[in-house]
Amino acid sequence: MNFRWDPALILGIDLGGTKILAGVVDREGRILSRAKRSTPAAQGGPAIVTAIMECVRESVQTAGASLDQIAAAGLGSPGPLDADAGVILWSANLNVRDFPIGPELSQVLGCPVVVDNDVRVGGYAEYRLGAGREYKNVVFAFVGTGIGGCVVVDGVMVAGATRNAGELGHMVIKAGGPRCGCGSRGCVEAMAAKTAICRRIEKAARKGLPTMLAERIARKGRLKSRDLAEAVMAKDLVALNEVQRSAHYLGVGIGNLINVLGPEAVVIGGGIAQALGDHYVDMVRTSARTIAIADPGETIVVRRASLGDDAGFLGAALLARERFRPSEARYEIHSTST
Ligand SMILES: [Zn+2]
Repeated sequence: MNFRWDPALILGIDLGGTKILAGVVDREGRILSRAKRSTPAAQGGPAIVTAIMECVRESVQTAGASLDQIAAAGLGSPGPLDADAGVILWSANLNVRDFPIGPELSQVLGCPVVVDNDVRVGGYAEYRLGAGREYKNVVFAFVGTGIGGCVVVDGVMVAGATRNAGELGHMVIKAGGPRCGCGSRGCVEAMAAKTAICRRIEKAARKGLPTMLAERIARKGRLKSRDLAEAVMAKDLVALNEVQRSAHYLGVGIGNLINVLGPEAVVIGGGIAQALGDHYVDMVRTSARTIAIADPGETIVVRRASLGDDAGFLGAALLARERFRPSEARYEIHSTST
Protein backbone atom coordinates (compact mmCIF):
# COMPACT_ATOMS: atom_id res chain seq x y z
CA MET A 1 0.00 0.00 0.00
CA ASN A 2 1.19 3.49 -0.74
CA PHE A 3 -0.37 6.42 1.11
CA ARG A 4 2.16 9.05 0.05
CA TRP A 5 -0.63 11.04 -1.60
CA ASP A 6 -2.88 10.76 1.43
CA PRO A 7 -1.94 13.01 4.36
CA ALA A 8 -5.04 12.06 6.31
CA LEU A 9 -3.78 9.13 8.38
CA ILE A 10 -4.45 9.39 12.10
CA LEU A 11 -2.95 7.34 14.87
CA GLY A 12 -4.99 6.06 17.79
CA ILE A 13 -3.47 4.81 21.04
CA ASP A 14 -5.21 3.05 23.93
CA LEU A 15 -3.05 3.13 27.05
CA GLY A 16 -4.22 0.64 29.65
CA GLY A 17 -2.81 -0.58 32.96
CA THR A 18 -1.77 -3.91 31.43
CA LYS A 19 -1.59 -3.34 27.67
CA ILE A 20 -1.09 -0.69 25.02
CA LEU A 21 -3.01 -0.92 21.72
CA ALA A 22 -2.28 1.31 18.73
CA GLY A 23 -3.70 1.52 15.24
CA VAL A 24 -3.68 3.67 12.12
CA VAL A 25 -7.08 4.97 10.99
CA ASP A 26 -7.94 6.50 7.61
CA ARG A 27 -10.28 9.39 6.81
CA GLU A 28 -13.28 7.04 6.52
CA GLY A 29 -12.69 5.68 10.01
CA ARG A 30 -11.30 2.39 8.69
CA ILE A 31 -8.68 0.63 10.82
CA LEU A 32 -5.60 -0.01 8.65
CA SER A 33 -3.46 -1.72 11.30
CA ARG A 34 -3.26 -2.82 14.92
CA ALA A 35 -0.34 -3.39 17.29
CA LYS A 36 -0.09 -4.40 20.95
CA ARG A 37 2.51 -4.16 23.74
CA SER A 38 2.52 -4.84 27.47
CA THR A 39 2.44 -1.69 29.60
CA PRO A 40 5.63 -1.38 31.68
CA ALA A 41 3.44 0.08 34.42
CA ALA A 42 5.91 -0.51 37.26
CA GLN A 43 8.62 1.48 35.49
CA GLY A 44 6.79 4.80 35.23
CA GLY A 45 6.41 7.53 32.59
CA PRO A 46 9.52 7.39 30.37
CA ALA A 47 9.29 3.58 29.98
CA ILE A 48 5.61 3.93 29.09
CA VAL A 49 6.42 6.46 26.34
CA THR A 50 9.11 4.11 24.97
CA ALA A 51 6.65 1.18 24.90
CA ILE A 52 3.98 3.35 23.23
CA MET A 53 6.46 4.36 20.54
CA GLU A 54 7.42 0.72 19.86
CA CYS A 55 3.74 -0.10 19.48
CA VAL A 56 3.18 2.97 17.27
CA ARG A 57 6.10 2.15 14.97
CA GLU A 58 4.80 -1.38 14.47
CA SER A 59 1.27 -0.18 13.71
CA VAL A 60 2.49 2.46 11.25
CA GLN A 61 4.74 -0.05 9.50
CA THR A 62 1.92 -2.61 9.30
CA ALA A 63 -0.27 0.05 7.66
CA GLY A 64 2.38 0.47 4.96
CA ALA A 65 2.97 4.05 6.05
CA SER A 66 5.70 6.07 7.73
CA LEU A 67 5.58 8.30 10.82
CA ASP A 68 5.79 11.50 8.76
CA GLN A 69 2.47 10.59 7.11
CA ILE A 70 0.66 10.68 10.47
CA ALA A 71 -1.29 13.96 10.62
CA ALA A 72 -2.31 13.74 14.29
CA ALA A 73 -2.67 11.26 17.15
CA GLY A 74 -5.18 10.55 19.89
CA LEU A 75 -4.47 8.86 23.21
CA GLY A 76 -6.99 7.31 25.56
CA SER A 77 -5.58 7.11 29.09
CA PRO A 78 -6.70 6.24 32.60
CA GLY A 79 -7.17 9.37 34.65
CA PRO A 80 -7.82 11.74 36.22
CA LEU A 81 -6.41 13.91 33.47
CA ASP A 82 -5.87 17.53 32.59
CA ALA A 83 -7.10 16.85 29.06
CA ASP A 84 -6.37 20.39 27.80
CA ALA A 85 -2.72 20.12 28.81
CA GLY A 86 -2.41 16.41 27.90
CA VAL A 87 -1.31 15.56 31.45
CA ILE A 88 -2.10 12.42 33.48
CA LEU A 89 -2.64 13.94 36.95
CA TRP A 90 -2.15 10.59 38.62
CA SER A 91 -2.78 6.94 37.95
CA ALA A 92 -2.21 4.19 40.47
CA ASN A 93 -2.26 1.62 37.65
CA LEU A 94 0.41 3.42 35.64
CA ASN A 95 2.57 4.57 38.55
CA VAL A 96 2.70 8.17 37.27
CA ARG A 97 1.86 11.60 38.68
CA ASP A 98 1.61 14.92 36.77
CA PHE A 99 2.95 13.20 33.68
CA PRO A 100 2.76 15.34 30.48
CA ILE A 101 2.23 12.39 28.18
CA GLY A 102 0.51 14.42 25.42
CA PRO A 103 3.35 16.95 24.93
CA GLU A 104 5.99 14.19 25.21
CA LEU A 105 4.33 12.05 22.54
CA SER A 106 3.73 15.09 20.36
CA GLN A 107 7.43 15.85 20.42
CA VAL A 108 8.48 12.30 19.48
CA LEU A 109 5.75 11.86 16.86
CA GLY A 110 6.13 15.31 15.33
CA CYS A 111 2.36 15.86 15.21
CA PRO A 112 -0.38 17.19 17.51
CA VAL A 113 -1.74 14.77 20.13
CA VAL A 114 -5.12 14.88 21.89
CA VAL A 115 -5.47 13.09 25.25
CA ASP A 116 -8.78 12.01 26.75
CA ASN A 117 -10.15 9.56 29.28
CA ASP A 118 -9.89 5.91 28.14
CA VAL A 119 -13.56 5.15 28.75
CA ARG A 120 -14.75 8.30 27.00
CA VAL A 121 -12.72 7.56 23.86
CA GLY A 122 -14.11 3.99 23.79
CA GLY A 123 -17.63 5.36 24.12
CA TYR A 124 -16.94 7.87 21.40
CA ALA A 125 -15.94 5.14 18.91
CA GLU A 126 -19.09 3.15 19.75
CA TYR A 127 -21.12 6.33 19.29
CA ARG A 128 -19.62 7.26 15.93
CA LEU A 129 -18.98 3.88 14.32
CA GLY A 130 -20.22 1.14 16.66
CA ALA A 131 -23.40 0.07 18.44
CA GLY A 132 -24.48 3.67 19.16
CA ARG A 133 -24.08 5.06 15.65
CA GLU A 134 -27.79 5.24 14.85
CA TYR A 135 -28.56 7.46 17.84
CA LYS A 136 -27.94 10.96 19.14
CA ASN A 137 -28.83 10.28 22.79
CA VAL A 138 -26.96 7.31 24.19
CA VAL A 139 -25.66 6.04 27.53
CA PHE A 140 -22.51 3.87 27.33
CA ALA A 141 -21.53 1.60 30.21
CA PHE A 142 -18.33 -0.47 30.21
CA VAL A 143 -18.17 -3.31 32.73
CA GLY A 144 -14.81 -4.87 33.45
CA THR A 145 -12.57 -4.83 36.50
CA GLY A 146 -14.29 -1.50 37.23
CA ILE A 147 -17.23 0.26 35.59
CA GLY A 148 -16.89 3.37 33.45
CA GLY A 149 -19.16 5.15 31.08
CA CYS A 150 -20.09 8.22 29.16
CA VAL A 151 -23.23 9.96 28.03
CA VAL A 152 -24.06 11.52 24.65
CA VAL A 153 -26.92 14.05 24.68
CA ASP A 154 -28.17 15.55 21.40
CA GLY A 155 -25.04 14.38 19.65
CA VAL A 156 -22.61 15.86 22.17
CA MET A 157 -20.56 13.86 24.64
CA VAL A 158 -21.33 15.34 28.04
CA ALA A 159 -18.14 16.41 29.79
CA GLY A 160 -19.73 18.61 32.46
CA ALA A 161 -18.24 21.72 34.04
CA THR A 162 -15.39 19.65 35.46
CA ARG A 163 -14.85 17.66 32.22
CA ASN A 164 -15.07 14.49 34.31
CA ALA A 165 -18.79 13.73 33.92
CA GLY A 166 -19.98 10.27 32.97
CA GLU A 167 -18.78 8.37 36.05
CA LEU A 168 -21.83 6.16 36.05
CA GLY A 169 -19.90 3.40 37.85
CA HIS A 170 -19.87 5.61 40.93
CA MET A 171 -23.56 6.28 41.21
CA VAL A 172 -24.52 5.03 44.67
CA ILE A 173 -27.28 2.45 44.35
CA LYS A 174 -27.02 0.87 47.80
CA ALA A 175 -26.34 3.46 50.48
CA GLY A 176 -23.95 2.02 53.07
CA GLY A 177 -23.19 -0.92 50.78
CA PRO A 178 -19.77 -2.45 50.07
CA ARG A 179 -16.77 -0.14 49.95
CA CYS A 180 -15.86 1.03 46.44
CA GLY A 181 -12.37 1.74 45.07
CA CYS A 182 -13.34 5.44 44.91
CA GLY A 183 -13.74 5.55 48.71
CA SER A 184 -17.55 5.68 48.68
CA ARG A 185 -19.93 2.83 49.51
CA GLY A 186 -22.52 0.99 47.45
CA CYS A 187 -21.51 2.37 44.01
CA VAL A 188 -22.64 0.48 40.90
CA GLU A 189 -18.99 -0.53 40.51
CA ALA A 190 -18.83 -1.94 44.03
CA MET A 191 -21.99 -3.98 43.34
CA ALA A 192 -21.57 -5.10 39.72
CA ALA A 193 -17.95 -4.95 38.45
CA LYS A 194 -15.78 -8.02 38.07
CA THR A 195 -14.01 -7.26 41.37
CA ALA A 196 -17.39 -7.40 43.13
CA ILE A 197 -18.38 -10.64 41.39
CA CYS A 198 -15.07 -12.28 42.41
CA ARG A 199 -15.37 -11.07 45.99
CA ARG A 200 -18.80 -12.68 46.33
CA ILE A 201 -17.71 -15.90 44.63
CA GLU A 202 -14.84 -16.16 47.14
CA LYS A 203 -17.29 -15.58 49.96
CA ALA A 204 -19.63 -18.29 48.64
CA ALA A 205 -16.70 -20.71 48.32
CA ARG A 206 -15.65 -19.98 51.93
CA LYS A 207 -19.17 -20.87 53.01
CA GLY A 208 -18.66 -24.24 51.33
CA LEU A 209 -20.84 -23.71 48.24
CA PRO A 210 -19.39 -25.76 45.38
CA THR A 211 -17.94 -23.74 42.48
CA MET A 212 -15.34 -24.54 39.84
CA LEU A 213 -13.97 -21.01 40.29
CA ALA A 214 -12.79 -21.39 43.91
CA GLU A 215 -9.63 -23.21 42.85
CA ARG A 216 -8.91 -20.64 40.10
CA ILE A 217 -9.25 -17.71 42.49
CA ALA A 218 -6.99 -19.44 45.03
CA ARG A 219 -4.38 -20.20 42.35
CA LYS A 220 -4.37 -16.91 40.43
CA GLY A 221 -5.70 -14.46 43.02
CA ARG A 222 -8.22 -13.12 40.49
CA LEU A 223 -10.56 -14.18 37.72
CA LYS A 224 -10.61 -13.26 34.06
CA SER A 225 -13.90 -12.47 32.37
CA ARG A 226 -13.55 -15.61 30.29
CA ASP A 227 -13.19 -17.74 33.48
CA LEU A 228 -16.59 -16.43 34.48
CA ALA A 229 -17.99 -17.11 31.02
CA GLU A 230 -16.70 -20.70 31.16
CA ALA A 231 -18.29 -21.24 34.56
CA VAL A 232 -21.60 -19.83 33.33
CA MET A 233 -21.46 -22.12 30.28
CA ALA A 234 -20.81 -25.05 32.63
CA LYS A 235 -23.89 -24.00 34.64
CA ASP A 236 -21.83 -23.38 37.80
CA LEU A 237 -24.60 -22.22 40.14
CA VAL A 238 -22.43 -19.84 42.19
CA ALA A 239 -21.12 -18.15 39.02
CA LEU A 240 -24.60 -17.96 37.50
CA ASN A 241 -25.97 -16.41 40.65
CA GLU A 242 -23.23 -13.77 40.94
CA VAL A 243 -23.31 -12.86 37.24
CA GLN A 244 -27.06 -12.41 37.52
CA ARG A 245 -26.59 -10.24 40.59
CA SER A 246 -24.06 -8.09 38.72
CA ALA A 247 -26.46 -7.67 35.79
CA HIS A 248 -29.26 -6.80 38.22
CA TYR A 249 -27.31 -4.01 39.93
CA LEU A 250 -25.96 -2.64 36.66
CA GLY A 251 -29.56 -2.66 35.43
CA VAL A 252 -30.62 -0.64 38.50
CA GLY A 253 -27.99 1.96 37.62
CA ILE A 254 -29.05 1.98 33.96
CA GLY A 255 -32.72 2.25 34.96
CA ASN A 256 -31.89 5.33 37.03
CA LEU A 257 -30.07 6.88 34.07
CA ILE A 258 -33.01 6.11 31.78
CA ASN A 259 -35.30 7.93 34.20
CA VAL A 260 -33.03 10.98 34.35
CA LEU A 261 -31.89 11.20 30.74
CA GLY A 262 -34.41 9.34 28.59
CA PRO A 263 -31.85 8.18 26.03
CA GLU A 264 -32.70 6.45 22.75
CA ALA A 265 -30.25 3.65 23.50
CA VAL A 266 -28.00 2.17 26.15
CA VAL A 267 -24.84 0.39 24.97
CA ILE A 268 -23.15 -2.11 27.31
CA GLY A 269 -19.49 -3.00 26.69
CA GLY A 270 -16.33 -3.98 28.54
CA GLY A 271 -14.73 -7.34 29.32
CA ILE A 272 -17.69 -8.80 31.22
CA ALA A 273 -20.27 -7.95 28.52
CA GLN A 274 -17.89 -9.14 25.81
CA ALA A 275 -17.23 -12.48 27.52
CA LEU A 276 -20.78 -13.18 28.70
CA GLY A 277 -22.46 -11.84 25.58
CA ASP A 278 -26.10 -11.03 24.93
CA HIS A 279 -27.24 -13.20 27.83
CA TYR A 280 -25.71 -10.65 30.23
CA VAL A 281 -27.13 -7.68 28.33
CA ASP A 282 -30.59 -9.32 28.34
CA MET A 283 -30.45 -9.57 32.16
CA VAL A 284 -29.32 -5.92 32.46
CA ARG A 285 -32.21 -4.83 30.21
CA THR A 286 -34.76 -6.81 32.23
CA SER A 287 -33.51 -5.29 35.48
CA ALA A 288 -33.42 -1.74 34.06
CA ARG A 289 -36.98 -2.02 32.79
CA THR A 290 -38.34 -2.84 36.24
CA ILE A 291 -37.54 0.71 37.36
CA ALA A 292 -37.46 2.69 34.11
CA ILE A 293 -40.70 4.62 34.45
CA ALA A 294 -39.45 7.06 31.79
CA ASP A 295 -39.71 4.22 29.24
CA PRO A 296 -43.34 3.05 29.56
CA GLY A 297 -43.42 1.65 26.01
CA GLU A 298 -40.10 -0.19 26.54
CA THR A 299 -38.78 1.38 23.35
CA ILE A 300 -35.33 2.29 24.66
CA VAL A 301 -32.80 -0.02 23.05
CA VAL A 302 -30.34 -1.77 25.39
CA ARG A 303 -27.66 -3.49 23.33
CA ARG A 304 -24.14 -4.82 23.45
CA ALA A 305 -21.15 -2.75 22.27
CA SER A 306 -19.81 -3.90 18.91
CA LEU A 307 -16.19 -2.75 18.59
CA GLY A 308 -14.50 -4.84 21.30
CA ASP A 309 -10.87 -3.97 21.99
CA ASP A 310 -10.68 -1.67 18.94
CA ALA A 311 -12.96 0.91 20.57
CA GLY A 312 -10.26 2.66 22.63
CA PHE A 313 -7.66 3.43 19.99
CA LEU A 314 -10.30 3.98 17.29
CA GLY A 315 -12.16 6.53 19.42
CA ALA A 316 -8.89 8.31 20.28
CA ALA A 317 -8.09 8.54 16.55
CA LEU A 318 -11.57 9.87 15.72
CA LEU A 319 -11.27 12.55 18.42
CA ALA A 320 -7.85 13.54 17.07
CA ARG A 321 -9.19 13.86 13.54
CA GLU A 322 -12.12 15.96 14.65
CA ARG A 323 -9.88 18.19 16.77
CA PHE A 324 -7.04 18.73 14.29
CA ARG A 325 -8.22 17.76 10.77
CA PRO A 326 -12.04 18.03 10.82
CA SER A 327 -12.41 18.85 7.11
CA GLU A 328 -10.89 15.47 6.14
CA ALA A 329 -13.37 13.17 7.89
CA ARG A 330 -15.38 11.16 5.38
CA TYR A 331 -17.14 8.72 7.69
CA GLU A 332 -20.85 9.17 8.01
CA ILE A 333 -21.66 10.81 11.31
CA HIS A 334 -25.00 9.64 12.76
CA SER A 335 -25.40 7.32 9.80
CA THR A 336 -28.33 4.94 10.06
CA SER A 337 -26.87 2.62 7.47
CA THR A 338 -24.58 -0.26 8.31
ZN1 LIG B 1 -17.28 4.30 43.60
